[in-house]
Amino acid sequence: MKYHLNYILLFAIVFFAACNNNQKMEEKKLHNEPAFPKGEKVVSENFTGSVWLNYLAETDSIHNVNIGSVTFEAGARTNWHYHKGGQILLVTEGKGLYQEKDKPIEIIEKGDVMKCPPNIEHWHGATPTEAMTHIAIGTNTNIGGAIWLGPVTDDEYNQRIQ
Ligand code: MN
Repeated sequence: MKYHLNYILLFAIVFFAACNNNQKMEEKKLHNEPAFPKGEKVVSENFTGSVWLNYLAETDSIHNVNIGSVTFEAGARTNWHYHKGGQILLVTEGKGLYQEKDKPIEIIEKGDVMKCPPNIEHWHGATPTEAMTHIAIGTNTNIGGAIWLGPVTDDEYNQRIQ
């Protein structure tokens, strides 16, 4: 009889653990949590404002890409910079801004895909009022990574959006 009780207990534990796990998954869906947590706060002179990074994949000699999910709180943005091997941005949350040198600021939002060609100066970030998260894919990392330039000034950031 004791043998049976042990099995019943084990079954009950597994059953309730499974229910609990399902409940957590349902809660995640209900609250629409992002697939990737926002990660660690970035401490770097290459950004203005509060920026978070979840480094998802480091480059290697087979793939030659690095991948990170970057979250910009409202008002936050990168410095001007360019990528020797180019970059692709997949916007996963919110609304942000993207600008290439001598071109108007573009609004980017959840679902947008932006290709940053190699060696073209640009910046990306949140809007002044809304946070934005994108997955940044550094491409052709065997050619080279980001080259960082000066900050995007408040005047540059607050230009009228065309
Ligand atoms: Mn970039």
